[in-house]
Amino acid sequence: MIKIEGVSKIYNQGKQNEFYALNNANLKIDNGELVAIVGKSGAGKSTLMHIIACIDDYEKGKYTLGGQDVGKLGDSEKSLIRNQWIGIVLQDFALLERYSVLENVMIPFNFSPNKVKRSEQKKRAMELLKELSMEHLCNQKVNKLSGGQKQRVAIARAMITEPKILLADEPTGALDEKTSEEIMNAMRLMSKKGVTVIIVTHDMSVANQCERIIEIKDGCIYE
Ligand code: ADP
Ligand code: MG
Repeated sequence: MIKIEGVSKIYNQGKQNEFYALNNANLKIDNGELVAIVGKSGAGKSTLMHIIACIDDYEKGKYTLGGQDVGKLGDSEKSLIRNQWIGIVLQDFALLERYSVLENVMIPFNFSPNKVKRSEQKKRAMELLKELSMEHLCNQKVNKLSGGQKQRVAIARAMITEPKILLADEPTGALDEKTSEEIMNAMRLMSKKGVTVIIVTHDMSVANQCERIIEIKDGCIYE
């Protein structure tokens, strides 16, 4: 599904302050895997995640996503592939605070090239919220929710377009231990449905709940 071969992300290439945020990275992730990416701050975790999500370009190597050579795609093709393949969850939730839970979960449909009827959108959103034990809060404004509840809304929003890959960058970073567990249960649930789940974390108790742990040090990948 994800195949990264000799990929380098180089800032200020050719200049005096040239910097390899990723250095000759190799990584293969299969369909349905539940993977943790760990490493110190500045190690290159977010860089790797952004490349996997087709948000950032890279200077060297080859990245193949579902058989497609991402380096050969143009911007519009990349945004299409991102739309179809990738769901993202961030540490700070990035929700629209003054909108309801249901409205937040349905937002990605506004950007999706596949037209889905409003009634179908709502049905899918409610099903996801139910799986995440959030359906009773569907009409609640997001700014009234706890951190764990907000993150479950963000997971539902990431999953609403049925992506094959769920990327989470420090999804439990702003949460206490018990709430982190809640979020990891949600991640495992998505993984059980066959979604490839990749979680960036510096919390080893989170990483240890994954099937596989990948470590990044100074832009290099170790496993
Ligand atoms: P992590 O997520 O592991 O904390 P990042 O992937 O965000 O690390 O960053 C990896 C390294 O790349 C860091 O040392 C960071 O300073 C550097 N970096 C990130 N963005 C830029 C940029 N635009 N220009 C130069 N260096 C950058
Ligand atoms: Mg980061």
